[in-house]
Amino acid sequence: MDQLEAQDVAILKAIAKKNGWFLSEKKREQNKYAVTIARIPGHLSGNRNINSLESARSFGYPECCFNSFCELFGENYKKKANKQAILEKLIAPKKKWYLLNDFLYSWFWGYSLSFHHPCEYGCKESVRTNMKILLAVKKESPTYAHEIIKHLKMPMLVWFDKTDTGTSNYYWFRNRTTLIFDGSLIGAQIHYSDVARLSTVFQGAQNPIHLKIEPFKMGNICELRDNELLIFRNSKHLFSLVRNKEHEGIPLIFS
Ligand SMILES: [Zn+2]
Repeated sequence: MDQLEAQDVAILKAIAKKNGWFLSEKKREQNKYAVTIARIPGHLSGNRNINSLESARSFGYPECCFNSFCELFGENYKKKANKQAILEKLIAPKKKWYLLNDFLYSWFWGYSLSFHHPCEYGCKESVRTNMKILLAVKKESPTYAHEIIKHLKMPMLVWFDKTDTGTSNYYWFRNRTTLIFDGSLIGAQIHYSDVARLSTVFQGAQNPIHLKIEPFKMGNICELRDNELLIFRNSKHLFSLVRNKEHEGIPLIFS
């Protein structure tokens, strides 16, 4: 599981140029690259106000996703009771399109296909939008497109922070810790050759979830049970971790 390299950024630059997209690129801590594609030059660097339908359109964001985004940040965002509903709506669709997987957005820069957050992971409008971006990447570099798809389809386990008393629903969803596995889900077990931990998306945000990755690194099978996770190395049981199935170790598979 590799992070975006300089040569990948070069590929993205070429794609953006060909499509008339604007590419925002910043080199951040740990040499990670932040790459964002927008459809109108200058929008991302200058005008950061995205709270209007007009600017959402100029970014190429679907209207349904824009409305959902406003619900999170708009007048209703202080209603904490919405938080569970928001999570459920997002992850409810049985078919969660890998094209919409935005969990790798800040950690594996470049393995997320767009900047906008879908209203749900089955949003057809977003699939259309992100497919266009993927096809453009494929045209430029089939190998890189393959890498993106591979990463977006990797099984994940997510821990959401339900203790967050902040006012934003959005931060509640975002305050999370994710394990991403290079492997596949077989029955109730994830069989994997590598695992990485992705922490919260917001820079400077405190992530209150302390999840040790070492036990997972030592194993190659993770079994999901109702109230615990079991970690095995082949057939040898190594560890058992208690989990609250409502918000800890939630399996998410995009396909
Ligand atoms: Zn949508």
